[in-house]
Order: sequence, then C-alpha cells, then structure tokens
Amino acid sequence: MRAQPERNLVREFVAALDRGELHMVYQPKVRIDTGELTRLEALVRWERPGLGAVEPSRFVPLAEKYGLIAPLTDWGLRTTLTQWRAWRDEGLDTNVAFNISAMSLQSLDFPDLVERVCRELEVPTDRLVLELTEGATQPLIKLMDTLTRFRIKGIGLAIDDFGTGYSSLMQLRQLPFTEVKIDRLFVKDLPHAHDSCVIVEAIVDLAHGLGLVATAEGVETTDQLRFLRSVRCDVAQGYLIAEPLEGGSLRSWCKDFAQRWPQLIG
Ligand code: C2E
Ligand code: CA
Ligand code: CA
Repeated sequence: MRAQPERNLVREFVAALDRGELHMVYQPKVRIDTGELTRLEALVRWERPGLGAVEPSRFVPLAEKYGLIAPLTDWGLRTTLTQWRAWRDEGLDTNVAFNISAMSLQSLDFPDLVERVCRELEVPTDRLVLELTEGATQPLIKLMDTLTRFRIKGIGLAIDDFGTGYSSLMQLRQLPFTEVKIDRLFVKDLPHAHDSCVIVEAIVDLAHGLGLVATAEGVETTDQLRFLRSVRCDVAQGYLIAEPLEGGSLRSWCKDFAQRWPQLIG
C-alpha cells in the first residue's frame, strides 16, 4: 500500500478502536471423536460504516507497524473474556482461544498483563489458550522465558499455522506448547492429495508423541473431517463445523450442531 492511503487507513483504525467499531466473532473448535465443543477462537472484525469490512490480515499488520498492537490486544482480550463470562452466566461452560501478535511477546511483562486482565474479569487462566505464529523476524525460541511464564500461570499455548513459516520440529520439542494447529494449506487437499495426507498424519503423530493436542484448521468437507478422524487428529475447526459466529448465537449453534454432527462424521 502507498504511504498516504496506508496512513489514512491507520487514522481510521485508531478512530474505529476509540468509537468501539471493532468487534469480535468466535469460531468453534470441536473434538473429532465426540463432536463436543472444546473452545472458541476469537477473531477481530472491522466494519467501516458505509465502506464495508477490512480484513484482519490487512489491519493487524498495520497495527503492528504503527505501534497500535497493545491497545488492539488489550481491547480484544477484554472483549473475549467478557464474552466468556456471558456464556458462563448462560450456563455455557467453555474455553477461549485468542490470537497474539508476535510483537506483543517481546515485552517480558506481557504474561503478567494477561494474567491481570483474567483476574480483573474473573476468568480462570486455564480457560484461555493463546495462539501464536512466528513473526517474520523472530523465531519463537527467543521467547522461551515469556512462553514459560504463560504456562506457569496455567495459560495454554497453541502454535498456529504449523508447517508454514519458521516453525521447526526443534521448536516444537523445546517450547512449552500445549496444542499444534495444522495449517489450512495441508488440510485443503485432504484426502485426495497423497502428500497432504502424509504430512497431516505425521504432524498428528508428532503432536501426540510430544503430548500436544493436534487441531486441524480450515476443515470444509466431510471427507476432510473423516480423514482427520482416521489419523486420530483431536480437534477440528473450519466452515464445515461453523463459520465465526456472534457471541449471542453460541447457544443456538450448539443445539443445531448436536443434530448435524452424526451426519457429518458418518
Ligand atoms: P488465523 O488465526 O489462522 O485464523 C483463521 C482464519 O481462517 C480466520 O480468518 C478465519 O475466519 C478463517 N477460516 C476459518 N475457517 C475457515 C475455513 O474453513 N476455510 C477458510 N478458507 N478460512 C477459514 P480471519 O478472521 O480473516 O483472520 C485472519 C488472521 O488474522 C488470523 O489467522 C489471525 O492471524 C489474524 N487475527 C484475527 N483476529 C486477530 C486478533 O484479534 N488479534 C491478532 N493479533 N490477530 C488476529
Ligand atoms: Ca489463530
Ligand atoms: Ca491459523
């Protein structure tokens, strides 16, 4: 993007954050063996009044570039944890996953900050999983101290988009992750592309060997889901199960999904 339009968009983004024009949607993840809801991943949305939506893959990197990631993360985490409480008050007992920009992890205080927000909003830390991808410049291994602090506090850690970027087998072994999210790229061609099948099965086995939960993202077809079950992948997420939904529609999705599940899994 050219500098001027980019700066205009950033100005608009700051105003949107101030005016409360961002909102969060939540995408369910379910256990493949039972169809049970395990948690919901919070995803930010920005709808520009009269101008349509801006994709998070466009404005999150801009927020990083212009020093706005801290207010975005703080707002997003508070919104997500407040939603968790609303679900709990409705009798929906669940967990949430929240995406963290690699940039936030550069501050050693960040785990304390997350814990403080959990305490303030009375959400047990073990109900929260943070999803992390590697930044372009920073292998996650450099963040060992910060990541360990999260685990000591009981917060779960998922490595997102696994198999792309810099994520190496060594990092998976050395860092205190609890979950591996297999990138959509590998799920997309299941079960027809032999190489994707081999890679996905290997990642699931690797995750299990290291005591981690294996989650497949971007699951769109029943064939993909059934292949994932055949290789004992633990958790599925994707449009087949649910599109990201508004907090208020979780209850009706749960009811509907319980009826759909037997047909999906076959
Ligand atoms: P991600 O964490 O890998 O999130 C998954 C993306 O895939 C989401 O796009 C989701 O809507 C989309 N998706 C889910 N199921 C399917 C499917 O079955 N098929 C296809 N084709 N797509 C699917 P979204 O919401 O546009 O988010 C894009 C990225 O932006 C996210 O990738 C994440 O890295 C980042 N992001 C989103 N929300 C936040 C946030 O609150 N904070 C931060 N730091 N990053 C965020
Ligand atoms: Ca994610
Ligand atoms: Ca992902």
